[in-house]
Amino acid sequence: MIPSVLPTYNRAPLAFVKGEGSWLETAEGRRYLDMGAGIAVNALGHAAPELVEALTEQAGKLWHVSNLYQIPQQQALADALVEKTFADTVFFTNSGTEAAELAIKMARKYWSSKGEDRIEIITFDGAFHGRSTGAISAVPHSEKMVKGFGPLLPGFTQLPWADHEALRAAVTDKTAAILIEPVQGEGGIRPVPDQCLKGLRDLCDETGALLIFDEVQCGVGRTGRLFAHEWAGVTPDIMMVAKGIGGGFPLGAVLATEAAASGMTAGTHGSTYGGNPLGCAVGAKVMEIVSDPAFLDQVNARAGFMRQKLEALVAAHPDIFESVRGSGLMLGLKCKCAPAELVAAAYDQNLLTVPAADNVLRLLPPLNISEADLAEAVSRLDAAATQLEKSA
Ligand SMILES: *Cc1c(COP(=O)(O)O)cnc(C)c1O
Repeated sequence: MIPSVLPTYNRAPLAFVKGEGSWLETAEGRRYLDMGAGIAVNALGHAAPELVEALTEQAGKLWHVSNLYQIPQQQALADALVEKTFADTVFFTNSGTEAAELAIKMARKYWSSKGEDRIEIITFDGAFHGRSTGAISAVPHSEKMVKGFGPLLPGFTQLPWADHEALRAAVTDKTAAILIEPVQGEGGIRPVPDQCLKGLRDLCDETGALLIFDEVQCGVGRTGRLFAHEWAGVTPDIMMVAKGIGGGFPLGAVLATEAAASGMTAGTHGSTYGGNPLGCAVGAKVMEIVSDPAFLDQVNARAGFMRQKLEALVAAHPDIFESVRGSGLMLGLKCKCAPAELVAAAYDQNLLTVPAADNVLRLLPPLNISEADLAEAVSRLDAAATQLEKSA
């Protein structure tokens, strides 16, 4: 008999009833150290007092009015994002995949409103942009995501990772846009080198193609800058944001330059819930905290500390781990075994981690995690690796 919850997830036999900071607790009172943070969502940890306050204060006043009216909380968050980024304008969604939908629509509308037939969007192997039909159509090479769901939307070309020749050949003055994660998340924590992001920007400037960054996982302080592309010193024309921006409340956004957004006039797009007062009240508080340079300095300091500890861990377990990779607190351990085995061994140490493609174990802790909790996580990973070595 089919479970009452559609069985599209292989869930661990674990349920949590409360959380605080980097820790989660089961009904029996067992405490787990959370190095997944809801897959890079709980940017400020569980039950962050500032976010609980922002949410409950708004909840006592007004939850939802629809986008038929002005929404001051939405306006305030849009203003903050415009002030702190390349963007001139913002549309709010409830998830990353909805942000992908709009990013794709916006790029095509940009060209059609100029009277040009440019629909082709270039993406890359290992990419993940969400699970809507549009977002899976963007990655036709991912059999797990697309098989059986066709016909897919036409107009996407997925190129091999880091193949500059293929890229040069594929991007022409008929290309509508290039869509890329500055740091691949699901693909296995693969940062795009700064010079390649610069090269992509140049290629887009030469051909007129729009550059879309998917910062759903790597954005909002995760890499130690407010947005990951800031490290490379280039800006996109359109950017997708979600996950961390809501700190655990479902919230996403598409940010764009005035030019890139020029086709999106009244009536061309919408969302009933997008930009609702609850989500935006929380998002504004997340932005206020995470965009503070002192907060980002602390993320970088913690990231440096963690990176050193992980290098030592890899050196201590050469049969289990191959290398450390990533940026800021978006870290990956390339494994010599299936990462799922490590995730399972880590459960035995009351430690939560997340697998990714390319044999990588992901570590995506809350951005405000303490050094003590990071050290504790590494010591539990050490115990998990030792357990695997013994059973091998
Ligand atoms: C998670 C993710 C998405 C999809 O976000 P949802 O909120 O799950 O729809 C899109 N792009 C990237 C890079 C992601 O990590």
